[in-house]
Amino acid sequence: MSERAAPFHCPYCGDEDLRPGEQSHGTWECGGCNRAFQLKFLGLLARGLRRPDTGEDRT
Ligand SMILES: [Zn+2]
Repeated sequence: MSERAAPFHCPYCGDEDLRPGEQSHGTWECGGCNRAFQLKFLGLLARGLRRPDTGEDRT
């Protein structure tokens, strides 16, 4: 697993012209819409990894 998460598309305009931001770690700059944004890892989900279609429906 890589430590750096690299986005493939800009979340705002969908452009692929992304470069790493210079301000701080984890920031990206989009050459398509001239936006700067940040990717942040929030942590693992408490419910864990489970597919929603396992058929574990008890009602
Ligand atoms: Zn963009």
